[in-house]
Amino acid sequence: MDASLLIIGAGPAGLLAALAAARRSLPRGVLVVDRLPVPGAKLAASGGGRGNLSHVATEGEFAAAFGRFGRFAIPAFRALPPERLRATLADVGIATVVDPAGRIYPRSQSAAQVRDALVAACTRAGVRLVLDRPIRSLAPPETPDAPWTTDSFSARAVLLAAGGQSAPRLGSDGSGFALARALGYQIVPPVPALTSLRTAETWPAAHSGLSLPDVTVAIAGKRGAAERGELLFTHRGISGPAVLNLSGRVARDLQAGAPVPIELDLAHAQPDFRTLRQEAGSRPIHAWLARNLPRALAGTILELAGTPADLTFSRLSAAQEQGLARHLRACPLTVRGTGGFDDSMATAGGVSLKQVRPDTLEGRLTPRLHFAGELLDLDGPTGGWNLHWAFCSGYLAGSVAGA
Ligand SMILES: Cc1cc2nc3c(=O)[nH]c(=O)nc-3n(C[C@H](O)[C@H](O)[C@H](O)COP(=O)(O)OP(=O)(O)OC[C@H]3O[C@@H](n4cnc5c(N)ncnc54)[C@H](O)[C@@H]3O)c2cc1C
Repeated sequence: MDASLLIIGAGPAGLLAALAAARRSLPRGVLVVDRLPVPGAKLAASGGGRGNLSHVATEGEFAAAFGRFGRFAIPAFRALPPERLRATLADVGIATVVDPAGRIYPRSQSAAQVRDALVAACTRAGVRLVLDRPIRSLAPPETPDAPWTTDSFSARAVLLAAGGQSAPRLGSDGSGFALARALGYQIVPPVPALTSLRTAETWPAAHSGLSLPDVTVAIAGKRGAAERGELLFTHRGISGPAVLNLSGRVARDLQAGAPVPIELDLAHAQPDFRTLRQEAGSRPIHAWLARNLPRALAGTILELAGTPADLTFSRLSAAQEQGLARHLRACPLTVRGTGGFDDSMATAGGVSLKQVRPDTLEGRLTPRLHFAGELLDLDGPTGGWNLHWAFCSGYLAGSVAGA
């Protein structure tokens, strides 16, 4: 089967690319191939099935969400900013809403409907979709005018939109990295991101299911490696948005082979010791703490700090005060592992951005090979950023590839 543009991967990046490319009436058309029997399986499962599709943001905010190399994403963002994504989705019959935090969802609360609408729009536009067909090898053109070839397809240009390595049951099993590597592209070692953390300490398990709305989680001694937000205790450690957003950096540090020390800042529970000693000196510290933290957790923190639960503020020694203050400001935990790729929502690492042009997403090593989505070495926090990156990078690549 021959095409002007072969898109490997029918995820959000591949589907938006197909839609953009189909509108350009390429002479031999657009072909999308996916290894799963259903397209966009991860998109349909996103946001717990509700699909947090994007996030209202300026280009500066968007770049900042992707960290150190975030500026790479700006040309794609300019090609399809959030308001244009919303208009594109509206064109295919998907109305969207914005929540107070700026997160964009389908009004129907159904990510599967978004996937179905995009697939239907692609089909209407003449895109050919081949499912249940993994691409295992990709051969570059032998002469300047020759096509790219796989075992059964040929195309003038190829877009590799095969995703990362997270949640392989939903399609992305890392085989896109293998295809790029075989063509000489450098792959920044993939690690799971947006995943839970497993701790050496067992006390978090005793509070499994408990969540705290506002905690700062930081990698100990590493400047700037901190995230603030909700924290959830689990039966193996910790999770929740703050932890998920830090997890990629923890996973990267774990690659060195040693456990990673982290700290929880429970600043909202920090007593003003001097005032309390004067005004509530006879009050047990535990009773005060339990007003600012769940009672059982307050007990655990006191135990970790070595402070007897029935001690009153007036009887607290200077050393005990320091110990308790330290545990509330920087409660230590030791991360031994993460939830792994199976339990992660994003992959940190991927095709090196140095080898890809940001304005066309074409690889610098091979002609007419483009990259989009999570396959590239960019990952953002929770909140719709990763899906927006998939959509806008796919859209940019599909607007230029195969000409
Ligand atoms: C459970 C879960 C919930 C999530 N929720 C959100 C959310 O609410 N908001 C958000 O912004 N992000 C969310 N994410 C992340 C987001 O879904 C991804 O970042 C996004 O799907 C990446 O899009 P993509 O098109 O690059 O890759 P994918 O969606 O992974 O699609 C890649 C496609 O390529 C196919 N493929 C892979 N290899 C081959 C091959 N060799 N041959 C042929 N086909 C191949 C796969 O089958 C797959 O269909 C979530 C992720 C998970 C796992």
